[in-house]
Amino acid sequence: MMTLRTVAEVRAALRGRGRVALVPTMGAFHEGHLSLIRAARASGDTVVVWLFVNPKQFNEAADLAAYPRDETRDARLAEQNGADVLFVPDADEVYPQGFATTVSVAGIGEVLEGVHRPGHFAGVATIVVKMLNMVGPHVAVFGAKDAQQVAVVRRLVADLNVPTRIVVVPTVREADGLALSSRNVLLDPAARQRATALYRGLRSAAEAVDHGVREGAALRAEVEATLVGAEVQAEYVAVVHPDTFEPVESVDGRALVVVAARVGTTRLIDNIEVTT
Ligand code: AMP
Repeated sequence: MMTLRTVAEVRAALRGRGRVALVPTMGAFHEGHLSLIRAARASGDTVVVWLFVNPKQFNEAADLAAYPRDETRDARLAEQNGADVLFVPDADEVYPQGFATTVSVAGIGEVLEGVHRPGHFAGVATIVVKMLNMVGPHVAVFGAKDAQQVAVVRRLVADLNVPTRIVVVPTVREADGLALSSRNVLLDPAARQRATALYRGLRSAAEAVDHGVREGAALRAEVEATLVGAEVQAEYVAVVHPDTFEPVESVDGRALVVVAARVGTTRLIDNIEVTT
């Protein structure tokens, strides 16, 4: 595996290397990232893992400062899981002097995470378009854990005629259901225990659907009650259409139950798909 730091090096390295599968990440790899890398391995000839802690998608300076970083460990794990290229650009390579363009996705990008993390999706959409143009992959692999990000990326790829297929990998979880996240290392043992409330709440909403409950409000109440029971502070709980992220009053077909919550100072998100 090669670690490369410039667009010119990556483009030169990829010439004649067949179908390219790209895995965008901010590093601090866990099994969720590794399952994306393995999915990329299965869907391309050459696997490029992008590692960049993108300052433009952080709306809190403290969150950016606390974000875990370990390139040496990440390089080892990327290689062990089938990456051919680890692309680690410097901030100057990504945002050169005079950088002035922002990509924004209306609608999907303006609700839920878009409200609670102002500027987040403009940062995400802009870096995604840049990555896809820098690397030119046939396939790009994203995790279902960031469901609204997936919807934003699918929208912009369709709207801007980007010739990249988007592959989505299911959320990888701890044995007790907590979705793996680079931020989980910031949880102390008591907070780590309380954090299980997110997935427990989502599971009880999914079970309610299995028992015939359809109203979005009733499903939200299931999740909220579980969070309150664990003294976890919800930022939002919503039942939405998986593609548009518009609220669903009554589930008919597929819907997503999505949650964002603070456990202590750590902000966590999760979601579950429900089907009638
Ligand atoms: P991040 O490094 O947190 O920006 O995440 C990079 C990619 O990994 C994104 O597409 C995430 O959705 C995905 N990802 C993060 N956590 C998980 C998880 N627990 N399971 C599957 N994919 C994940």
